[in-house]
Amino acid sequence: MDVNTIKKDLLDIMKQYGLKNESQLVITESIKEWAEKRGIKERDPLRIAMKTTERTEKVDKETGKKELIQEEPIIILKKEVSEPELQSPRSRALHISLELNGVDMESAKKMLESDENFIKFCLLHEIAHIKGFASEEEADFWAYKELPKVI
Ligand SMILES: [Zn+2]
Repeated sequence: MDVNTIKKDLLDIMKQYGLKNESQLVITESIKEWAEKRGIKERDPLRIAMKTTERTEKVDKETGKKELIQEEPIIILKKEVSEPELQSPRSRALHISLELNGVDMESAKKMLESDENFIKFCLLHEIAHIKGFASEEEADFWAYKELPKVI
């Protein structure tokens, strides 16, 4: 599925969680390439989602010093999400973290079965990290609980 087809919905979800600028969502062919252009190491060529912080700096003409103008979290999503990505280790890890949190796996499978819901889940997972949930497990569980509110 082409993530761009639900971009408007994704931006709406981000707004609900305080990420109000459209520039805070980047949809790209390859997250690995996108990241490496910015000096961020990424091993997984099928990575579906990541978050980072975009810093806007200004150079002071007199002192030559860089001054931080703005720092804002951004979410990057892989443009094409289909079978290989859905079968990736990331996706399997997700099922394990939900299971560890006592989620009913039958309903979880049903809810995450559609590509669209799965992409929204991935977006919420990154939002969870931005909100301060550091571990993958916590972020998965939070995203899973929020998902019914946005689908
Ligand atoms: Zn994560």
